[in-house]
Amino acid sequence: KAVKKYFPIRKGFLQRTAGYVKAVDDVQFAIRPGETFGLVGESGCGKTTLGRCILRAVEPSSGEVLFRDRKGMMRNVLELDRRELRAIRRDMQLIFQDPYSSLNPRMTVFNIIAEPLVCNGLMGGSELKQRVSSLMEMVGLNSRHLERYPHAFSGGQRQRIGIARALATDPSFIVCDEAVSALDVSVQAQILNLLEDLQADLNLSYLFISHDLGVIQHISDRVGVMYVGKMVETAETESLFASPRHPYTEALLSAKPIPDPRHKSDRIILSGEVANPANPPTGCYFHPRCPYAKELCRQEAPEMKAVGDGHYAACHFAGELELRGAAGL
Ligand code: SF4
Repeated sequence: KAVKKYFPIRKGFLQRTAGYVKAVDDVQFAIRPGETFGLVGESGCGKTTLGRCILRAVEPSSGEVLFRDRKGMMRNVLELDRRELRAIRRDMQLIFQDPYSSLNPRMTVFNIIAEPLVCNGLMGGSELKQRVSSLMEMVGLNSRHLERYPHAFSGGQRQRIGIARALATDPSFIVCDEAVSALDVSVQAQILNLLEDLQADLNLSYLFISHDLGVIQHISDRVGVMYVGKMVETAETESLFASPRHPYTEALLSAKPIPDPRHKSDRIILSGEVANPANPPTGCYFHPRCPYAKELCRQEAPEMKAVGDGHYAACHFAGELELRGAAGL
């Protein structure tokens, strides 16, 4: 069942519900073991809320999140009680966007990384010390610096500490929410390489959330594009970038910076505003901005349909329109 997250809008003295912000609206997709699924879209499109719904850090309004636990059992995360949820959270972790604010400045690096192991009662004493030291080394940091505080580290090093903490409980799935967005470009590349190496060594699956198309193209095996709370296209990375089938993806890709300055940019400028998730338009949410919109688009919401091998798009005319791929590819 597709996931929905509607936030109520409260008004007046009695705080009556006056409507809903449809942050995640009927989204359904799968992430395979060992793969990176990139989630891209403009800010406010629901990517972060969706990532948090999967981890149940935000309680979805309805739907199912099916996750295979470490015993190989398929569980619906949304039906678990507190104890079961705590146990499954060892397998599902989150890497935050901002390495400057996500680490407690009053805790030593040892305590930051050890916290999930101690809180879950998983280990203590010399075993804990050994595990934390090996996690530091796993992320390329010197284990002699464990008694230092976060301020003694650079942004990239702090993000490595955040990654070590996420790996502490030996998860199989990690949500990376804008995990490199706050870093310099050269440091971004190092962190992306580290995430790829860890994935290969530990068979991790990532949900990689980013607004940066270059980063998404580099790291993802498959990509999902979101617009106003809806998933509008999913495909293998190469297929999506070379031959998008949804007009919104086409416009998004046309805005990707081109490394070669001799290549003329062919950016598609969309008219109109991004739809309001509290009051979305009828039919296809993209129709007020879509250069290909027809009467049907104003009346009926398009379903996600197959348009190629493993390629799906929610557009009435997907596969019929002559769209172009990412410029510069
Ligand atoms: Fe554009 Fe219509 Fe397709 Fe929506 S359904 S993306 S409005 S062509």
